[in-house]
Amino acid sequence: MQNHASRAATFLKDDARTDWHNNTLWHVRSKRDKLVHGIPEWESIRQLGSDIKDNVLSNLDTYLEQFVAKAEANGVIVHWAVDAKEHNEIVHGILARHKVDKIVKSKSMLTEECHLNEHLEKHGIEVVDTDLGERIIQLKKEPPSHIVMPAIHLKKEEIGELFHEHLGTEKGASDPQYLTEAARGHLREKFLSAKAAITGVNFAVAETGGVVVCTNEGNADMGVHLAPVQIHCMGIEKVIPRAEHLAVFTRLLGRSATGQPITIYTSHHHRPKVGGEMHIVLVDNGRTKQLGREDFRNSLKCIRCGACMNTCPIYRRSGGHSYDHTIPGPIGSILSPGKDLKKNKDLPFASTLCGSCSDVCPVKIDIHEQLYKWRQIVSEEGHLENVKSIPLAGAGAVLSRGGLYNFMGKAARTALKIAPRALIYNQFNAWGQSRELPEVPKNSFKEWYAKNRKDA
Ligand code: SF4
Repeated sequence: MQNHASRAATFLKDDARTDWHNNTLWHVRSKRDKLVHGIPEWESIRQLGSDIKDNVLSNLDTYLEQFVAKAEANGVIVHWAVDAKEHNEIVHGILARHKVDKIVKSKSMLTEECHLNEHLEKHGIEVVDTDLGERIIQLKKEPPSHIVMPAIHLKKEEIGELFHEHLGTEKGASDPQYLTEAARGHLREKFLSAKAAITGVNFAVAETGGVVVCTNEGNADMGVHLAPVQIHCMGIEKVIPRAEHLAVFTRLLGRSATGQPITIYTSHHHRPKVGGEMHIVLVDNGRTKQLGREDFRNSLKCIRCGACMNTCPIYRRSGGHSYDHTIPGPIGSILSPGKDLKKNKDLPFASTLCGSCSDVCPVKIDIHEQLYKWRQIVSEEGHLENVKSIPLAGAGAVLSRGGLYNFMGKAARTALKIAPRALIYNQFNAWGQSRELPEVPKNSFKEWYAKNRKDA
């Protein structure tokens, strides 16, 4: 059975792609640092964002009721979906009532999570993802590998080939400007013929009943403005209390996601257009369960900026598809075990626990602490593989007995000096395949200390 490590090994086979992926994401992380260090009040905005989200999670029912009442008063039709299946049925029901056979969609990880495209296509509805990265992976029949840059794992030459096959661009052409213009022409026609548009939601304001969608390409707006029926799908945790709080989150989001002061488009949708219909679908799909898990509830603060992925040394060198989950990277590794612990038991271990993810998170989620807690649960519930549980039991026995620890230390230092190198560096020991042990010291630190500090 495939796990994160084996999928990462497949990604790592292409050295050039791995280096390029690693460097590109680090470049985005560096852009983020530059912008963040440019505003002295960054840490207080971060704290404020975290506090607002804490308040939301403690009063989620109240803010959702307030949001729904305001939205309905604005003429919006609001739906509640308990899970992905219900969400998909609601969206399909709306489209079927309007006899829609073509839709445009933009900026929605939630619809990815619910596998909406597959559901609608099964019912004969053509779905076109309109953001450039989303359209690329849709044509390639792949899931996104990053929540902000879904096609970041692909090189421009691969996109050139894909567009040649599907959009009829010149063979061998890989100039980004040329390819973007080709995509624009192709999508323009889709926008004009779509009868409904679906978008995700970055923030839903309880005070006004409006939803806010942040994008850099404007395709979400193009879809919503042209199609008579607009549908906004959102997880219930996206609600924020007041419009003034947007000032906090839009500053946090753009800087953390792509190193921009603000996203190019920050669009507010409050009511249906004249002669049109506006729907909002509020989705639980496991979120209230996560809210009830004390150690993990604050993972629901996430504003999906992707900064934890860009900084993570594991994500950068293993690629988003190695996580096999809609949300990859550090935040995905604390959300996915809550959905299916057995299937995702390896993901909390896809981390060095260096804490860089928690350091960059704009809403101060203690990501690495939660990864560590999931590891404990995986172990307690008996899901740890033998390859981990047996050495860990051995380590636990040695580390908890001083005498045994000293003896084993001495034995290991001697063994490492005389043992053949092939014992560690062989095809069966994954650790030794990419690492070198430091030179074995003559003495332990304890012995060194006893000898050198006896007068201290
Ligand atoms: S966990 Fe934090 S850093 Fe990661 S995507 Fe969510 S908000 Fe961004």
